[in-house]
Amino acid sequence: TTAPKPKRSTEDAEVGGVRISHPTRIVFPGTGDTKVDLARYYEQVADWLVPQLKDRPLTLVRCPQGAAHACFFQKHLTDTMPEGVQPVEIKDESGSATYMLANDVRAVIQLVQSGVLELHTWGATQRALEQPDRMIFDLDPAPDVSWQQVVEAAQLLRGLLQEAGLGVFLKTTGGKGLHVEVPLKPGADWDTVKAFSKAVATHLAQQLPDRFIATMSKAKRNGKIFIDYLRNARGATAVAAYSTRARDQAGVATPIAWDELPTLASASFWTIHNVPERLAAMKHNPWADYDKARVKLGPKIVQKFGI
Ligand code: ATP
Ligand code: MN
Ligand code: MN
Repeated sequence: TTAPKPKRSTEDAEVGGVRISHPTRIVFPGTGDTKVDLARYYEQVADWLVPQLKDRPLTLVRCPQGAAHACFFQKHLTDTMPEGVQPVEIKDESGSATYMLANDVRAVIQLVQSGVLELHTWGATQRALEQPDRMIFDLDPAPDVSWQQVVEAAQLLRGLLQEAGLGVFLKTTGGKGLHVEVPLKPGADWDTVKAFSKAVATHLAQQLPDRFIATMSKAKRNGKIFIDYLRNARGATAVAAYSTRARDQAGVATPIAWDELPTLASASFWTIHNVPERLAAMKHNPWADYDKARVKLGPKIVQKFGI
């Protein structure tokens, strides 16, 4: 006799007081994780994630049918968004638009309920939208670049930034590459931060042209790592630490310590399955000193790269 098939519940579930519809819908086909699994992941990591989101305008990746189906980016608040998401009015090309903030765990779980699989944030907070409080170097390896090369690239970039007197932090993207982050004291404007990050990327590409490229051109990227400094433009976003990725294997963008990097297997090693355990067992938060390390990107530093 064959065992009866487990009943596929069509009933709603509840996580953190938020109703989850289609709880058994598979959102990550590679792992079989469902919508309610995802909501529970976010409930578990809320204390780590929420500070990363707080007061930062969002761009969301929504995939109503899961990571295997169509996804779209959304940056404006629409009336289909859950009520826990807060509005923030921002001036843009069109005059002004309403952007979104997710400032608590309830908002995050409500976003999961609305089909969100990725949370991306501005590098500035609502308090000072024109003065970034972080600079991001997004290391994008061409498909033929080895993981070892990506690791070395991050280490080289770190050295250069440290030499300029900056604090340098690291996260996996849950995808292919790494994000190297520099916490800033708000002060410099977007144009300055973007120009500085471009100068750093260009410098590395000139010094080590076999390894790095600082221009978008896909054609010239073979074998190289594109140092994507364009995350530092006003209105650009980068995936938030502890956000999931809309990819097959339920990868999570994960802060790591520099001494973890040499033994890390890949940018997608950390997932919704091992991140909660990692956090529970962690003795030292790799980003514990992130706020302490903030530096103002003033003339002295900026001049080192000829800006
Ligand atoms: P990977 O390590 O695989 O490169 P990533 O998050 O760095 O992962 P990228 O493709 O390099 O992915 O993109 C960097 C960031 O640019 C994303 O995290 C996202 O915030 C932003 N981004 C990319 N494409 C879009 C888009 N179409 N609309 C809005 N933001 C985007
Ligand atoms: Mn990238
Ligand atoms: Mn990129």
